[in-house]
Formats: sequence, C-alpha cells, structure tokens
Amino acid sequence: MKIPWRKPGSAGLRAPPPPSLAATEIALAGRRVPLRLRRSKRARRMLLKLDIGSGGIELVLPPRATEAQARHFLDQNKGWLTAHLGDLAPPIRFADGVAVPILGVEHVIRWQPERRGAVRRSGRDILVGGAPEHLNRRVTDWLKAEARREIAPRARAQALKVDRRVTRISLRDTRSRWGSCSVRGSLSFSWRLILAPEWVVAYVVAHEVAHLVEMNHGQRFWALVNRLAADADGARAWLRSSGPMLHRYGG
Ligand SMILES: [Zn+2]
Repeated sequence: MKIPWRKPGSAGLRAPPPPSLAATEIALAGRRVPLRLRRSKRARRMLLKLDIGSGGIELVLPPRATEAQARHFLDQNKGWLTAHLGDLAPPIRFADGVAVPILGVEHVIRWQPERRGAVRRSGRDILVGGAPEHLNRRVTDWLKAEARREIAPRARAQALKVDRRVTRISLRDTRSRWGSCSVRGSLSFSWRLILAPEWVVAYVVAHEVAHLVEMNHGQRFWALVNRLAADADGARAWLRSSGPMLHRYGG
C-alpha cells in the first residue's frame, strides 16, 4: 500500500547528496499526520520516532538515504505507525475558545469579528479580530512579540547582575533547544517559552546569561545558574516532561 506523499511548494532543504527531501505529511487511518524528515550525519539506518510534542512523526535519515528508500521504509512501517497513532495528540491550532497558557497562566482566545486593530490581552482573554482563517497566524505572531517583551528585559537585568552585556536577543522556533548564547554575547530563545511557567522562563534566561560568563557546562557555570535562578533542577525537569507539549501550539 502506498502512503500518499505530499511536498509543500517551496521548502527546500540544503540539498544533501541524492534528492532533497522536504517536510511533508502522511495519511494514516484517515488522519493527516505531520511528517518531519531529518538528515543525520550520525544515523546508520532509517529511524522512525513519534514526536509527542508536535503530534507528528519524525523520520531520521542517514546521509545517503534516497527518497525512494524513505518511502519504502514508511510503507513497511505503516502498521506500526497506525498502531501508535493514538499516542499522538493532535496539534492545537489557535482558534476562538482555545486555552493558551501565557507564562503558565491559562488565557482564552476570544474572536471578535467586528474588532479592529492589534491582538490585545484583557484580563485572561486574548482578543483577536479579523478573518477567522488568519486567527492562528495572528495569535502566533502576537505570542512571539509577547515572548520578546517578556524575555528581553529579564535577560538584560540578569546580565547586569553578572556584569555582562547582551548584544542581541532573537526569538526563534527551535525544536532542539530552548535557548542559546553566542561568544559575541547574543542570546536566542524559543518563542514558545512564553507558554511555559514564569519560573521555567527565568531558568532558561539564567542559563543563557550564565553562558555570557562561562561558555561551558562546568561546575562554575551551574553555580552561577543556581545563583540566578531559584529552581534550576525543577525547571529542567519541567522542560523534559512538559516542554514537548509547547510544540503542539500554533503550526
Ligand atoms: Zn547551556
């Protein structure tokens, strides 16, 4: 049985050896499931993983695997995938009535068709106007801006405490890490942290700021993190267990 295979228009990968593979999705038991293809230099063979966070499937490919081989592998494993489909929670699109945690506090999206202007927070409501088909994107953009608004001042204040200066702060949608720090002093964070509890955000900020002083994960680094963040161990445990769920939103 052939698995329908659909490639979105443009999204080309940095062409590795044979044909380039782009992100796509597959139909399983009448459901369209996101499929992410990832080339790994270290992978010896093809590997399927359930991505609980995004509600999708990840196919890891060794450098030389071809698109035909990938399709064949998916065909072979269709039974296994269908059997595990129930383990995958579907993504949460932003829509009227959907609950969104902001710094861990539940807010609810309220679509107001007659409403003009920007997305706005009012108490525990997120007020959004405009056409319903743009709601998901508008809320996503707004959350990214909120993430910057919340995270940037925290990072600058923490950096002052360790006598360092942040040169640049960028918000990204990274999957493998919540934050990073460059030797030039620029910090980057996942915008999805805005969906995490405040004390978890405080830890990620402390972690990256501590890298402005210690570009390693040694003893002095962790001592500094613990000075800047109240419960670093708890926050790391939270990110391990609940972090993947933050990737369900938007999309
Ligand atoms: Zn680190």
